[in-house]
Amino acid sequence: MTKTQQVLLAKRPSGLPDADTWRIATEDLPAIAAGQILVKVDLISIDPAMRGWLNDVRSYLPPVGIDEVMRSLDVATVVESAHPDFAVGETVSGTFGVTEYAISDGNGVQRIDLSIAPAATWLGALGMPGMTAYFGLLEVGKLRAGETVVISAAAGAVGGVAGQIAKAFGARVIGIAGGAEKCRVLIEELGFDAAIDYRGEDVLHRLRELAPDGIDVFFDNVGGDILDAALANLARGARVVICGAISSYNDDKPAPGPSRYMSLLIFRASMTGFVVFDYRDRYGEAVAKISQWLADGKIKAREHVVEGGVARFGETLNMLFAGANTGKLVLAI
Ligand code: NAP
Repeated sequence: MTKTQQVLLAKRPSGLPDADTWRIATEDLPAIAAGQILVKVDLISIDPAMRGWLNDVRSYLPPVGIDEVMRSLDVATVVESAHPDFAVGETVSGTFGVTEYAISDGNGVQRIDLSIAPAATWLGALGMPGMTAYFGLLEVGKLRAGETVVISAAAGAVGGVAGQIAKAFGARVIGIAGGAEKCRVLIEELGFDAAIDYRGEDVLHRLRELAPDGIDVFFDNVGGDILDAALANLARGARVVICGAISSYNDDKPAPGPSRYMSLLIFRASMTGFVVFDYRDRYGEAVAKISQWLADGKIKAREHVVEGGVARFGETLNMLFAGANTGKLVLAI
């Protein structure tokens, strides 16, 4: 029998999740049956979407139930196998949850190749955030070489990869992030052409200065005032990609709509939301492309790894809302 410590949803939060939101429990897992594997979770992906999964509302996935193990994407090691496709010792990714060990029937579990990139990168540039950046920018945003792209939450997991993909495609890339250090990282380490510190600068006016001919693709992770500032600066035919709206994820009431939406009419622009899972069948294509860019040095993978096990899950999740991460936030078990 294997004991596992896990994080359960104790109470739906109002606003920022706090200690009352979570309950840590220890469970004895049964022996695996035919067709199952037992995995030891090594890394847990900490994602803004987790906040949405706590709300009892209609969404692209059902909410996490009270007393259920918190849903998460993980990298794990197979420690026992009664499944024909998985061998003991293999590294896999899957939705195992915020737990130390899990039993799986292999559904949705992928083997990952550590010769291409380290495990944490398979939760970042080669994982769900990388897929989001790739399909959001190229399929939804229909990016073309020579265009001006603006990305919000640009120093985060999705934003950092999106900006580097845009550069690899020959676009001019402006990132928006919180603080001078993140802006330095964008320009000096990730190769962005310009960066705006939304905490210290007037985003609307800085965008006007940096993109005098307008923004062709706005890849938005933040919503709110930053979305409005970008809408005020669109180029004709612009594509606004709604990837996320993290500025409102802890709001109890719906955030006000974009006040500058008439820009869509004025500039003959479009605004399109998307969910990365709809591109699941094409992940192989994106992994191949991003792996090549990583090998060529055109994309630098950056992860922000917090050590400490499942007990630190709650505080690590809240780091996203404080902007305490640069790159993909991961909790190491
Ligand atoms: P991330 O960017 O690594 O982390 C979140 C970042 O958001 C923080 O580091 C912080 O950076 C910024 N932020 C937090 N609160 C903010 C606020 N009130 N105003 C402005 N910025 C704020 O997270 P990620 O995993 O890459 O996700 C980025 C976005 O993509 C999220 O909106 C997420 O929901 C979305 N997403 C969508 C899909 C999809 O399928 N559509 C898939 C994955 C992710 P600063 O320090 O710069 O503020």
